[in-house]
Amino acid sequence: MHIARIELSPLSVPLVEPFVIATGRIEATRAVLVQVTVADGAGKEALGIGEAAALPPVTAEDQPELLAQLAAAVPLLTGASVATRAEITTLLDGAFLGQAVARAGMECAVLDACARLAGLPLCTWLTGAPPRSLVTDMTLPIAAPTHMAALARGYRDRGFDVFKVKVGKAIDDDIRALTLIAEAVPDARFRLDANAGFTAEQALRVLDACRGAQLQLECFEQPCGRDDLTGMARVTAATDVPVVADESVRSLADLERVVEARAASGVNLKLVKHGGLLAALRIGMRARELGLSLMCGGMVETRLGMSAMGHVVCALGGADFVDLDTAFLLASDPFAGGYTSAGARLTFQDVPGHGVALRT
Ligand SMILES: [Mg+2]
Repeated sequence: MHIARIELSPLSVPLVEPFVIATGRIEATRAVLVQVTVADGAGKEALGIGEAAALPPVTAEDQPELLAQLAAAVPLLTGASVATRAEITTLLDGAFLGQAVARAGMECAVLDACARLAGLPLCTWLTGAPPRSLVTDMTLPIAAPTHMAALARGYRDRGFDVFKVKVGKAIDDDIRALTLIAEAVPDARFRLDANAGFTAEQALRVLDACRGAQLQLECFEQPCGRDDLTGMARVTAATDVPVVADESVRSLADLERVVEARAASGVNLKLVKHGGLLAALRIGMRARELGLSLMCGGMVETRLGMSAMGHVVCALGGADFVDLDTAFLLASDPFAGGYTSAGARLTFQDVPGHGVALRT
């Protein structure tokens, strides 16, 4: 099996409204679509596709750098053998040194093509696990508190009952927003994500306010800075609400450090953060062994990126906190397949690969 052809194109899909978190703001996806044709020894070919998704400054790269990195790798990868996972890993490690986002997009396309050639759903090809259905939360980006509450009400009416509330930019606005959201959707459950925006003191103050507003909190994601494991550990020790590490865990080594520091009881897996599906799978399996809870999410990604991550979750047999909602934030959908959705429930399909294709 070898890579026969690679095609790259910008993937810029406008959002319904700007996506604002503690560290950044975007109005359209800033990704690259990677299309890879893999041929087997008998001359049979399959096209696989992947999304290299930037979310600056959460990712160091933006769309132009991704296009350049991927284009530079094309001569090296074209014609290369991809017969085993070890071979794929060595090949991509060499082509994308320190370029996790580009690597993830390329790896997704290659693995998708391999699974399609094998005639298996991607999750089954990865670990033998069948596709399943997952219930996602819905993210409320940082906006005017009244607007965040109105968004929550609208999504609640569409069948979402778990919300990931972005906080960490201006604490008084966060508390005001949480209070109004609690009034707007009193029966909902919540996950907070500060995107590394708080000190431990601020994080604990927000948790106090949530208790006051009687919010049902499921977890608190990355309350403190990526390297502030002391702060994260303080929050973890001071509350029953599970703390989930996101920015703090890019690699297996990061995961071990976070566990050692007792800085979190869960980890958020994302394809472009870890550099691909195989790395996300390895980190997820290790986190399970260590007794951590699993969240799975993405950057601001289309149906393509969400489906790829969904297959990793299926391969892992499920996750505690599913955050695969960003395709719902887009004003259009250039893709079809992957999953069907009914409200917050995504049902991944029993078809070869991840099953996503460009709409024609
Ligand atoms: Mg996060």
